[in-house]
Amino acid sequence: MEAHIERFFTIWSEAGLPPCYLVGGYPRNSLLGLAGTDLDLASPAPPQALCALPAPEIALEERTYGLGTAVVKQRFGDALYVYEYTAFRCDNYGRGGGHKPRNVRFTEDIREDALRRDFTVNALYMGADGTVADPTGRGIAALAGKLIEQVTPETLTQDALRILRMVRFAAELGFTVGRDTWECAKAHINGLADISRERVRDEFVKILMADAKYGGKDGVLRGLHMLKELGALSCIVPALAEGDGMEQNAQYHAYDVLEHSLQACACAPADLVTRLAALLHDIGKPAALRETGKMYGHDQRGAALARSALKDLRFDKGTADEVCALVGAHMFDLDNRAGRKAVVRMIARLGERQFLRLADVREADFCGSGKGNPAPSAGKWRETLRELKEADAPISRRQLAVNGGDVMRELHIPPGKRVGEILSALHAYALKKPSQNSYKNLIRYAKIINTHGNE
Ligand code: ATP
Ligand code: MG
Repeated sequence: MEAHIERFFTIWSEAGLPPCYLVGGYPRNSLLGLAGTDLDLASPAPPQALCALPAPEIALEERTYGLGTAVVKQRFGDALYVYEYTAFRCDNYGRGGGHKPRNVRFTEDIREDALRRDFTVNALYMGADGTVADPTGRGIAALAGKLIEQVTPETLTQDALRILRMVRFAAELGFTVGRDTWECAKAHINGLADISRERVRDEFVKILMADAKYGGKDGVLRGLHMLKELGALSCIVPALAEGDGMEQNAQYHAYDVLEHSLQACACAPADLVTRLAALLHDIGKPAALRETGKMYGHDQRGAALARSALKDLRFDKGTADEVCALVGAHMFDLDNRAGRKAVVRMIARLGERQFLRLADVREADFCGSGKGNPAPSAGKWRETLRELKEADAPISRRQLAVNGGDVMRELHIPPGKRVGEILSALHAYALKKPSQNSYKNLIRYAKIINTHGNE
C-alpha cells in the first residue's frame, strides 16, 4: 500500500473513527496487479467526520451532489491525492425500478453497503492492514474467474447506467459478463433512455478508450460488440445503429455498415476525436441510401448527422467540430489521385493535428473493412506534411509572417471579407514557396493581388 494511503489510514484511526476501507477500483485492481485508479473510500462514519480530521494535510470538500459523500484531498510530499468518500449506506429503490433510489439509509453494516454496489468485483473492501473483505462472498471468486456479475438480481434493473458500466469494466479489464447478469442487462436495456445524456456520454467515452486504461488489446471492439448485442447503440447513437444489416459493396467490404463502423473505430489509435470520427465516418450512409438509393454524398450528410449525434450526447463544441471536419473529409483522395496542391490545401484547411488524424481515419476505415486492402493516400499525405515541415512552411495561417492587421495597414483597406481573401491567397502562396514567408515578400505579393487579383 502506498505511503500516502497508509498515512491517511493512520490519521483516520488516530481520530478514533470506525474502520475505513478502500473500496471499488483500488482493491479490485491491486488484486489484479493493475495500477492506476482513483481512490474510493467508505466507512460507517458520516462525511462530516472527515471535517474533524486534525491533520493539516487533509482537506475536505463537500460534494454538492449525492448524499453522504465527500471528496478528501490529501497533500503528501509534493503530490495531491484525491479520495472519494461515501458513508456506508443502503439504497432503497422500492418496486418498479427508476434510476434514483427512493430513499437512502445510512448503515454501520458493511454487508448492506456491499449490496448497494454494482458488481461483486467492485464490492471488495481493503482495510488499513491491506487485507481484503468480500461481504458478498462472491467478489474474490468473480475476480479469479474474470467475471462481471451484478451484486443482486435487481442491481441492473435499478439503474441502467450500471449496464454501461458493466460493458465498460468488461472492456477495460478483459472480463466476461456472467450469463444471468447479461440476460438481465438485455431485458432492461430500455432503461438507458432514463439516464442523462451526459452520464451516457461519459461511460461511452470510457468504452471507446477502454484499451487505453490498462493496455488491454481488443477491449474497444469487445465493448462495442457488447453494446450492439445488448441493443444499446440505438439509444446511444441511433443514426449509427441504422446501419445494422445494411450490406455494402463486397469488393471493398466484408461487413455491413454498422459492423464496419465498429471495426474501424477499434482500429483507430487511442485518441478520442479519431475514434469518434472512425466510428461515425459512415453515419451518413443509411440516410443517403434511403433517400437516393446510393451511398454517394454520405460524407457531407454524415458530417451533419455526426454533429447532431454528438450534440445529443452533449459533447463540447470543440470535439464535435473536430470530429465532423474529419467525417466530412473522409472521402478525400480515396482514389489516390489528388495532386500535391490538393493535399497541401487540405493540410492548410485542417491544420497539422487534424490532418494526421484524417490519415489515421483513412487507415482505420480500410483496416475496418475486413478485406485487408491497403489504405490509399495516407502514406503520401504524411510524406507531404513532412516535406512542408522540413521546408519550414507555414502550415497554419498563424505561422504566416503577416496577419490581418498588417494587411489592412499596408494596403489601406478596412476590415472585412477582402482581408480574409488576401490572407488565404498569401497562405497558399507561402505554402507553395515557403522561402517567401517574410513580411516584406508577403506584403509585396499582397499589394500585387490587391491590385490585379491573385489568379
Ligand atoms: P475506476 O475508478 O477504476 O473506473 P471503480 O470501480 O473505482 O472503477 P468508480 O466509478 O470510481 O468505479 O466507483 C467506485 C465504486 O462505487 C464502484 O466500484 C462501485 O462499488 C460503486 N459505484 C459507482 N457507481 C455506481 C453505480 N451507478 N451503482 C452502484 N454502485 C456504484
Ligand atoms: Mg474508482
